Formats: sequence, structure tokens, C-alpha cells
Amino acid sequence: MANTFTFYNTLSRTIEEFVPREEGKVSMYTCGPTVYHYAHIGNIRTYIMQDALIKSLEYAGFNVKRVMNITDVGHLSSDADTGEDKMLAGAKREHKSVMEIAKFYTDAFFKDFDAVGNKRPDVIEPATNCIPEFIHMVEVLLEKGYAYVAGGNVYFDTSKLDDYYVFSSSVEKEQLEVGVRDDVEEDANKKNKTDFVLWFTKSKFEDQALKWDSPWGVGYPGWHIECSCISMKHLGEYIDIHCGGVDNIFPHHTNEIAQSESYLGHEWCKYWFHSNHLNDQSGKMSKSKGAILTVSLLQEKGYDPLVYRFFCLQSHYRKPLVFSYEALDQAAATFNKLVKRIAELKEDGEVDKAVVEQYENSFREAVSGDLNTAMAITVLYDALKADTNDATKLYLVNSFDKVLSLDLIGHAKALSEGPSVDPELEKYVLDAIERRAQAKKAKDFATADAIRDELLSKGVEIKDTREGVKWQLI
Ligand code: AMP
Ligand code: ZN
Repeated sequence: MANTFTFYNTLSRTIEEFVPREEGKVSMYTCGPTVYHYAHIGNIRTYIMQDALIKSLEYAGFNVKRVMNITDVGHLSSDADTGEDKMLAGAKREHKSVMEIAKFYTDAFFKDFDAVGNKRPDVIEPATNCIPEFIHMVEVLLEKGYAYVAGGNVYFDTSKLDDYYVFSSSVEKEQLEVGVRDDVEEDANKKNKTDFVLWFTKSKFEDQALKWDSPWGVGYPGWHIECSCISMKHLGEYIDIHCGGVDNIFPHHTNEIAQSESYLGHEWCKYWFHSNHLNDQSGKMSKSKGAILTVSLLQEKGYDPLVYRFFCLQSHYRKPLVFSYEALDQAAATFNKLVKRIAELKEDGEVDKAVVEQYENSFREAVSGDLNTAMAITVLYDALKADTNDATKLYLVNSFDKVLSLDLIGHAKALSEGPSVDPELEKYVLDAIERRAQAKKAKDFATADAIRDELLSKGVEIKDTREGVKWQLI
């Protein structure tokens, strides 16, 4: 490993050198989607930046194992354990069962997740798979005196911790304390305002669709417990990196640390990686706010999902990013120019190893320096301008695309070869041309013209030439 790998650790509030517990190996946990609605392009920004982090670690020589949950139970519409269960609200809205909703939106999530070039996590676990693990953790927390039963629910007792607000500076702590006091709807069962539910049995939502038997009665888990348990189930007592969006820092990740470290009796995760939000003109993009803009919708509008990835990679993960169609169009134009340049490269001569090493080092330095993906793209441009042969440049494009995942060579090939045609459409066109030839032979010109119009309506133009009938997409 040539470089040190650094990124901003929210826990230490500094850009730190990353040193995993086991040399060369990284165990990583990332909070997955809540599947009561589509994932918007903001959620997808978070998953793109996590994918870039994983691939950058791999580029630097680490072996990464990543686990992700699917929140298909227990996430209430407010982080303060109040409000409606989000899954139940989704099911009511669409007149479906909670499990149907979970399946539909999990599939929709992965369609968009894959389309932007992300690699799937090694383990993907829905919360509903792990009820016995949740119950076990709650039992241990009760035994150890970190939890209590009140009004039928089980709560985590935050007053048992020396430092509950682990992510915050002393000023932020004061602000959070005031915020928690003011914002949280009163739950008379809680001993402290910051206590949170580990297991619900008494709920104001009598029609909660997913319920399980537990030592405290029939009920369902709180949201935070799932990430602690799913992580430990697959990665053991320690993880190296935990990822999420900045909105997860409080209370979700704060509560995850509280319960995990109380359960384990030692530090759980040393490095916390948080990416910033995607905003629109009216502020943070959110699932519960108005129409949801998804990657699939961008695709329907004619945008390549990888152009959205390029748009995200051009900006730093710790900065908020404002989405607009003008900005996306700008990214598309830049991306197309980049592809055109790559399409002009010819396979010639030997790859120059010294040049490869020089540019690969610069690229590694960029992504290993607090995940500077914009700088990594600049290194790609520098390599394309370098005083070397095309074979070396093509080699470098392939190498950098292991992290960028923009399918640069694929796009360049498609540009050189012209638009690819759907084989079904091709079969239909050839068949129509044959029918038209038969009609012409029989002097049935009305039918021949009708076939020409039929093809036009499908976006296909035909021309009679001396070499026969030629066709093209219009
Ligand atoms: P959710 O499905 O709402 O639990 O969110 C999935 C992931 O997206 C979480 O890691 C959130 O922190 C993240 N997220 C939520 N809203 C945004 C946003 N506007 N921009 C970027 N990431 C977000
Ligand atoms: Zn989580």
C-alpha cells in the first residue's frame, strides 16, 4: 500500500489516517434504505459516495466486506419514537400489505442502486429477518441495567452513559439538549428525554401489521436496534467503518453507539463516515416531502444514470450539493465530451508502465485524501492530455474506472459504433421491409405506403437506394 488512506472521521472530528483492526481488511456497515417509498436521488447520492469510498479503499489495496440492512419494520415518522410507523403509512397509502410494500420498494431501490454503477453489499439483511437477535440484545441491555420497561415498552436509559452525545462538541451538545427538550413530543414513560425505544409492545397504533412475540409481550422493535444487531450478526463485535448520511448522526448513530457499546462493554466502531445531503431549491430532499425524484424518473427523462453518478463525483462528499436540471445538463455535456475524447483513442503500441505508475499514484492520492473524487476526475483529464501513447491512456481509463464506475470504455465504444439497436426492433423492421417489397411486387402501393408510415410511427425511416432498402432511427 503506497499511500496512507485518510477521511474525515465524525467521531474524532478530524481527517484521520484510516488503520483497520486487521491489516488490509475492512469491515464496513452502511445503513440501508427505509422501504416505504422510492429512494430519491438524494438517498442515491449517499450510496454513490459510499460506493466510491469502498472502491477507493480497494484501489488502495484494502479488502472490504460490507453489510447493509433494509429497514422494513420499526421506523417511525419521527425520530423521537412518535408518529406513525413509516411502513404502515406506506401500506395504507397504497392499499397493500406491509410486506408487499417492502418487496416493491426494495426492488425499486436496487434497480436505481445498480443503475448508477454501485456494487451490491456483500450482505443485505432485512430487519424482519433478525427478530431473535433484537430480542437477545434487549434482554442483555435489561440484565446489564442499561434498559428499563415502562408502560409496556422497553427503553434505553441514556442517563447510564457518561457521554451520550459522542459525536458532538460541547457547544453542539448544549444545542442538542435544548433541541431535544423543545422538539420531542412528551412520552410520559421515558425517564430521560433522550431515552429511546428498544422494543414496543404498547403502541397507539393498534393496527401495526408486523408483530412478534417477545418476553415483554407481542410487539415490534425500535429502529436503531436493527443496525447494531445486523452489524454484529455478520461482522462480529468490532467494525472498522460505519457509514450513513449526515442526518443519521443524531439520533440514529448516537443511539446505535449507546446500545452497542453498552451491550458489548467496549468500543464498537472507530471510524464514522457521513456524507452530506442533496438539496433542491427548497432545501433537503426528503421522502416525506412532495414528489419523489428518482433515478428511474431521470432515466425516463432521457438522462443516463451514470451522468447522475458523474454529477455526484464532481463534488466533495462532505459538502451539500444542490440539484437542478441545469446542473445535470452541464454534467451531461461534460461527460459526453469526456466520452468523445476516449472514443478517439486507438489501441496502439505498448503500455508505458512508468507513465501508468505515475498517474495511478496521483489518482490513488486523490481518492485516499478524504475521498477527493473531483480531483480524481482531474487526474483522468491529465492522463488523457499526457505525452504518451493511446494504449497507455486506455489502460489508465480502465484503471480509474474501477473507482469511478462510469463505464467509460463502454460509452466510448457505443459512440464509435453508433446507437445500438434493440434486436426485437431490428427483426420487426426487416420483416416490415420484406412485407413492403411483397406489396410493391403485387403493385399494391397503398399497402406499401402504409408500411412506410407504420415504420415512421415507430421512429424508423426507410430509403430506397441502388443497394436496396436502407433504414435508420430518427
Ligand atoms: P432512508 O431510506 O430515508 O433511511 O435514507 C437512506 C440514506 O439516505 C440514509 O443514509 C440517509 O442519511 C440518506 N439521506 C436521506 N436524505 C438524504 C438527502 N437529501 N441527501 C443525501 N442523503 C440522504
Ligand atoms: Zn442504521
